[in-house]
Amino acid sequence: MKEKYEAVIGLEVHAQLITNTKLFCACSIKFGSPPNSNVCPVCLGHPGALPVTNKQAIEYAVLMGLAVNCVVNEQSIFARKNYFYPDLPKGYQISQFEKPICENGHIEVKTAEGSDKIIRIKRIHLEEDAGKSIHDQGSDTLVDLNRCGTPLIEIVTEPDISSAKEAYEYLINLKQIVTYLGICDGNMEEGSLRCDANVSVRKYGDKLGTKTEVKNMNSFRNVERAIDFEIKRQIEILEEGGTITQETLLWNADLNEAFPMRSKEESHDYRYFPDPDLMPIVIDEKWKTKITSKMPELPKVRRERFIKQFNLPEYDAEILTSTKDMADYYEAVLEFTDDYKSASNWVMGDISKVINENKISIKDFSISPKNIGKLIELINNNTISGKIGKELFEELLKSNIDPEIIIKEKNLVQITDSSELENVIDKILSSNSIQVEEYRNGKEKVFGFLVGQVMRETKGKANPQLVNEILTKKLKG
Ligand code: ADP
Ligand code: ZN
Ligand code: MG
Repeated sequence: MKEKYEAVIGLEVHAQLITNTKLFCACSIKFGSPPNSNVCPVCLGHPGALPVTNKQAIEYAVLMGLAVNCVVNEQSIFARKNYFYPDLPKGYQISQFEKPICENGHIEVKTAEGSDKIIRIKRIHLEEDAGKSIHDQGSDTLVDLNRCGTPLIEIVTEPDISSAKEAYEYLINLKQIVTYLGICDGNMEEGSLRCDANVSVRKYGDKLGTKTEVKNMNSFRNVERAIDFEIKRQIEILEEGGTITQETLLWNADLNEAFPMRSKEESHDYRYFPDPDLMPIVIDEKWKTKITSKMPELPKVRRERFIKQFNLPEYDAEILTSTKDMADYYEAVLEFTDDYKSASNWVMGDISKVINENKISIKDFSISPKNIGKLIELINNNTISGKIGKELFEELLKSNIDPEIIIKEKNLVQITDSSELENVIDKILSSNSIQVEEYRNGKEKVFGFLVGQVMRETKGKANPQLVNEILTKKLKG
């Protein structure tokens, strides 16, 4: 039944910019300040207060536009979006309507089939955030206006997305881009990225169906689930001969269902008009060039460079560049070792395991890139065995000091002295004469057992190749 229908999805994502101050005043945007402490006449909307646009916020919006292949408009204007809500003291939100700062870009995503697909970006505009109503403290609703005037960019796609999975991929890409640019921390759980999903379905080849808008998803996975839910709901209605009502739905993550919130407003309900208190934003070529020069290496380019420069499999490059912090850590390790693949294995394996278990960012990982680099070198130059390397890693987790000091203190240096190893091996052979006999009678599995005994005796410090060599020689002799 489902194959008859095609889903059509467009996303509207709000990203909170990490500027020092608000979009139109000098108040701090710091999260977690006491309620109503980061406020002033401008963001409280007192009569006569005049807004002044934050230059850094403009530059961040332009940087984003350039990163996703948009046209940066030489002139854009702020508009008032009028509506009443307790957390909006001015009675309007300053946003952009007819002339946004950036238009007509695109982001590439991987489809389920593994091919690349272009998702067009319709517009990126700058706007201010509203305050917060707090409903969970006693029976009254409280209002905190600290967030009023916090700078946001809204990134709106064309209806180019065709599945929940694709929407998820798009969001992962978008988050990577904003965090690489350093313009937003990308944290959806904390609300610094917020996504509204517009969803419709149609029979293949038909014109666009009526869309609904689903809001209130606070994780990428919830966006995916909410879209899947909504596609299914719409198909069921159509199959029963019903019609879709254009409305806004709220996602309930506990119930895994979306519920209607209100019938959708039209843009004329907002009575948009150009804000008479604000100058148009003018971005001339000179300024644009200056902003362009601040463009960092973007995830896709970095991924490709990792494959070329460090000879890494695509899989490694993908994971290592999944966050800028991880890619930075990896490259910092390479200051101390040229073993690109081992460094990749440590970062993707043991290190990722620790940071995932502790739910921390690699930025807060306790072992320095320098000591990981040294650890790799100590294994590669045969000072320690790979097995001891793991032990050393555990020690470094306890205290991030020079690995060479640890291996001296803990006496972890590999035994590469053959006469010392011969002694150990002779001892093992004489105390395991039954097994030696079995081996000589063709039971080759016993070899591994004997190696194990040598390793146990030397507490894992014997050089494995040397043990193999000496043992083979002695068993043959
Ligand atoms: P509105 O005026 O209702 O806000 P917009 O044209 O601004 O609509 O589009 C809002 C978002 O909805 C965009 O991301 C757009 O791609 C998406 N969209 C538009 N039409 C449809 C549709 N029929 N089905 C799904 N998404 C749609
Ligand atoms: Zn203020
Ligand atoms: Mg809209």
